[in-house]
Parts: sequence; structure tokens; C-alpha cells
Amino acid sequence: MVAPVLAQMNRAVSLYLHIPFCYDKCDYCDFFSIPHHGIPDSDLIAAERAGIAEHGKKWLELIEPETIPTIYIGGGTPSSIGLKELEKYLALMDRIAKSVSPSPGTKEYTIEANPRDITSPLLKLLAASGVNRISLGVQSLEPGDLAFLGRNSSPELIEKALDLIAASWSGRLSVDCIAGIPGQQISSIRKLIARIADAGADHISIYQLSVEEGTPLSSLVVNGKRSAPGEFEYLTLFKQAASYAEQSGFRRYEISAFARPGGESLHNMRYWKLLSYLGLGSGSVSTILTGEMHNTVAASAESAALRVTIDREGKEAIEEISHRDFFIERLITGFRLVEGVSTKLSEFLPITIARYTGLGLLEIDPAKERILLNEKGLDILDTFLVDCLDELDRTLPEGPCRS
Ligand code: SF4
Repeated sequence: MVAPVLAQMNRAVSLYLHIPFCYDKCDYCDFFSIPHHGIPDSDLIAAERAGIAEHGKKWLELIEPETIPTIYIGGGTPSSIGLKELEKYLALMDRIAKSVSPSPGTKEYTIEANPRDITSPLLKLLAASGVNRISLGVQSLEPGDLAFLGRNSSPELIEKALDLIAASWSGRLSVDCIAGIPGQQISSIRKLIARIADAGADHISIYQLSVEEGTPLSSLVVNGKRSAPGEFEYLTLFKQAASYAEQSGFRRYEISAFARPGGESLHNMRYWKLLSYLGLGSGSVSTILTGEMHNTVAASAESAALRVTIDREGKEAIEEISHRDFFIERLITGFRLVEGVSTKLSEFLPITIARYTGLGLLEIDPAKERILLNEKGLDILDTFLVDCLDELDRTLPEGPCRS
């Protein structure tokens, strides 16, 4: 890892801040989050911030970016730690961004929030700190669904939050929904989408409920105390929800994300295109480019990127990603996007591409030189990616590669 290479490769770097604290642990959650049950530990939070300041300074001095195009504060539930603690985090992020440039050129600054935390003082603090996008964890408007998920929320709190945002938030709004909860009806998802649209959201993510090993939901399902979500039920609900979202003016642009024109998440687009971002805070991950992105691969000893992780104890680990592995990651994340990938990227997949094109699941846009899964293709994205990986294993040379 050589500092001049990092500086040359990373004129623009996004920031991701992980605030790993939540009120309680939702039954389905397998993210790194520490429940504080309403009493955040200020010493622990201060120690977190000290680690972030140090990590941020070290990496930004190495990378020397010129701009910070996007900032994303996620978790955990960043809004759950109280205004005073949050204000200190926001001030720290401001210092970190300004250490890059007095005008770091940040176009999108998002924070995740729980509906119960949406108050006028919070909205004022966010606006004053430059945050211009809230990602609200709604998931469902049905009390039974929220109880199934073990969410610390209620339809009344969600309604109140959406009303307040509609009345006094001038920034953007994205809302997370979950589909596939046993017993969930399409009428309730439609009601939720209509309500979100009414509150002024320009972005909706519709995620599939999955049962992850080690979560309370997994034990409840194994012990027969909760029904398991069904894949077929999910797909049926998702397709109806997607079609309703499209009718309501939200265009699908990624496997689970829908946006009004111009409402696409700039930050997430950088993840999906594997552009550089610096992760801050315990449980965060960074991807920092060390080599040019290429549309073909050939042998080279250089790495394509660094993957930096901060574990739950705040310990840093650095892994070099070879051009071969980075190329594979780009294909995998690229096919999640409705715009697909450059046709040049697909030259290593002739068999899979011919097969899926023949099945009417994959299309080529010659004018834009893109290859993309159509709606039916996106339904079986995982199967398609497994076939891609099988073929790449046979065709891509082993070891680090670049063009
Ligand atoms: S709010 Fe989000 S991060 Fe926190 S426990 Fe629930 S799902 Fe996990």
C-alpha cells in the first residue's frame, strides 16, 4: 500500500459512519448493533467517537481525496442515542469532511432514523448539520407485522413521524419496507407505499424478510413459535408491491430499490459500482481503490482495492483485493442494478449469457453497450450469479489480474 497510489486513485471518497447502537435487538436482525434499552452508554459512545476521529484522520491523510460526494450515517439506529450524542457525532463528521476541503462538495448526506425519534428538534439538528436525506426504518404499518419482527415501533409512531416529516422536513426521504412477513397482505404494502408517497418520499427500499442463523427469529422458527417466511409468498408480494410502486411513480433501479426520477441513492450507487468509500466506526467496512478499474482482466501482481474492516472491538484489518476478485465483485454488484453492466465486462461469461439470453431473462442494449437482467431475470438473480461464478471459475485466470 503506497500513499501516492491511494491519492492518485481516489479523488472522490464517500464516508460511511456506523453508529452501532439500537434501543433493542429486533428479532430478525443480524447486523452489528448494541441494544441500550433507552439508556445509551455515553462513555462507550465517546470511546467510539475517539476511534473514529483517529481512523478517519489516518486514512484521509493517506488517501488525500479532493471531494466527499456522499456521506451516510447508518447502524444500528443512529437516531436512538439522543440529540446530545448525535450532535457530537454530526460535529465530528463535519470536522472530518472539512479536513478534506472547506467545501467537500457533498451532494447527498443521509442518516438512518427510527420513526419514534422523529421530532422537531431532531429535524432541525439534522438540517443545521447539512443532512439532506433521512432513511426511515418503517418496515410495515401493521401492528401484527411489527410484533412479528420484534420492532420497537408502532403504527401510531410511524404515522406521527411521517406527518412531521411531511410538514417540516425540506430534505429527501427514503423509507425501508419489508415484504415476506408470514400472513402479510398486499393491501397493507399498498397502503404503506401510498402513505410514504403522500409523505413526500422519493425513494423506497423493499427488502425480503430472511431468517438468519443465530437471530431470535431463527430460534423462534426452529421451535415452531413463529412461521417461516415463504419464498413463493415473498416473490408474489414483492412483484405486486413493485408494480404498485411503479404505478405510484417510483422506478425500480436496483433489485430492491425504487426511486422517483433523480431520487436514486447516490451513496448506494457508489457501493454498487464499487467506488471508493471510507467506513468509520466499529462494524464498518471500507473499499479503497488502489488500481484503475478495467473492463477486462490480465495477470498483474498489483491489487485493485483495499478492503478495510473495523471489528466490534474497534480493531482494524486490511485485506488486498486482487483484480480478479474485484472484477467478480463488480459483476455481482453490477447485475443487481436495472442498468446492468458494461457489455465489455461480460466477455468472460459467454456460456451463461447465451443461456440466459436464450431463456429471455437477459437483454443486451447495444446503444448503451449494457447487458442487463430483465424483470424476470432479476427474480432469479441469485441463481444467475451462481452460474456466473461457476463460469468465471473456469475462465478467469487464477491469481491477481488486471488489463
Ligand atoms: S433497528 Fe435495525 S440494526 Fe437495530 S436491531 Fe433493529 S434491524 Fe437491527
